Amino acid sequence: MKPILSQVSKLDNVKSFDLPLSTCFDKCKYYDLSVCYAKNNPRLRYKAKILKNLRNLKLIRGLKFVKVVTNEILRDNCRKFRFFSSGQIENKDQLIKVLRVCKNCHMVKFAIMVNSDIILSQLIQSGYKIPKNANLLLSNYEPNSKTPEFMKNYLIKYDIGVTQTTLKSKLATCQASTVKNGHCGNCEKCYYEKDISFKIHGRYNKNRILNQ
Ligand code: SF4
Repeated sequence: MKPILSQVSKLDNVKSFDLPLSTCFDKCKYYDLSVCYAKNNPRLRYKAKILKNLRNLKLIRGLKFVKVVTNEILRDNCRKFRFFSSGQIENKDQLIKVLRVCKNCHMVKFAIMVNSDIILSQLIQSGYKIPKNANLLLSNYEPNSKTPEFMKNYLIKYDIGVTQTTLKSKLATCQASTVKNGHCGNCEKCYYEKDISFKIHGRYNKNRILNQ
């Protein structure tokens, strides 16, 4: 079978399931300002990677996603897994499929990052229970912007956390993001913490954000 999972080098090679940027860029300011990690990473423009993300999109839209991805993760024998180092779910039903995979792989810790507060609200309204091994996080689609307290307080009632980015090292709670080529090491905050701030790297990125 053609490859499905990816490996995120900036996250100590943790495995991930990725989708094309077409699933997340329509309301993402990272993309608009060209500070999106996935958009700027030349390796993610390789034909093989583009085709894999397109195959994954077809997979998550179809009926076999839960079974196929569960089997891939169990076969990989990984301890931690990330949903979406690029792209995101397109609707609530796809998010529920992702959560069903997490439930099936109950020995694996999952970090799931999505930038759609609307889909998260729909999930809450559906009453679907988030598995304990899945850390579902709303990633703020605006760079260098703290997620509003009301949103954080609303989501946390349903066990959903938030992430945001900052230009200031002292405000970053992800240590790896505060140093050049930083690694996760023993940190596993993405898999349990409900409020994480990542430092935005690079002079160009800083200028793009400050001069927008
Ligand atoms: S918060 Fe921890 S686990 Fe998440 S990216 Fe940063 S170092 Fe890695």
